[in-house]
Amino acid sequence: MKIAVISDIHANLAALEAVLEDVEAVGAEKIYNLGDVIGYGPDPRACLDRVNDFAVNLMGNHEEAVLIGAIGFNPKAKQAIDWTRDQLNLESESVEKNRALWNFLGQLKRSYQDGDALFVHGSPRDPTREYIFVHDGQDCEKMESMFSSPDGAHWNICFTGHTHYPGVFTEEESYRFYEPNAFDTMFPDGRLPYRTIINVGSVGQPRDGDHRASYVLLEDGVVEFRRVAYDVGKTVARFNDCPELPDYLARRLEEGK
Ligand code: ZN
Repeated sequence: MKIAVISDIHANLAALEAVLEDVEAVGAEKIYNLGDVIGYGPDPRACLDRVNDFAVNLMGNHEEAVLIGAIGFNPKAKQAIDWTRDQLNLESESVEKNRALWNFLGQLKRSYQDGDALFVHGSPRDPTREYIFVHDGQDCEKMESMFSSPDGAHWNICFTGHTHYPGVFTEEESYRFYEPNAFDTMFPDGRLPYRTIINVGSVGQPRDGDHRASYVLLEDGVVEFRRVAYDVGKTVARFNDCPELPDYLARRLEEGK
């Protein structure tokens, strides 16, 4: 069974559509979405419609912010959250349609386990909000806590998003972080001899300097990182229709930062 694991769509419809085309082309049978379908981007409603029938949908910190308040968000991110909340209450849409979107957000799970694989948005310790940054690979205390969380959970591979930076954290004698390219070279058959935390990157707002959409495929314990080119100009043009969204959020898509 080939599973596509995607995260951080951030209301970028052109990026999501390109990824869904790729998912179909490679023959993945299921899609697991790790959260942040909305926030930052100009198409929250259309993106929520698209993910509705995915096998798994988790709650990200942006869904949580729309539901309970943007705690700890910077001003630009908060501005986008307030705009997104208004979009989900559009008076030009039917009350039933708006309610269905809110009900969808309200029922999202915070984590999901499938065999020896755990799926979260942020980290195993705090599934919705905590970041595992690349430099955290040097922080043995934090990484030790990550690999032993949540209490009593048994997993060999944990999938996360949230930082928008794809790569692999491994539990070796110490802890290490590998960029996806290094991972391909080092483990040619794709099968890792260590417990790992895999960051799948972001579909709709990559921050590793590559503006293409990022996601991974999982099949029989083997992970493949994929990058999908999409029409960034199309999404940037949608931002122009939404003057309430900070312009900076469109600019960063072009740079992938
Ligand atoms: Zn995000």
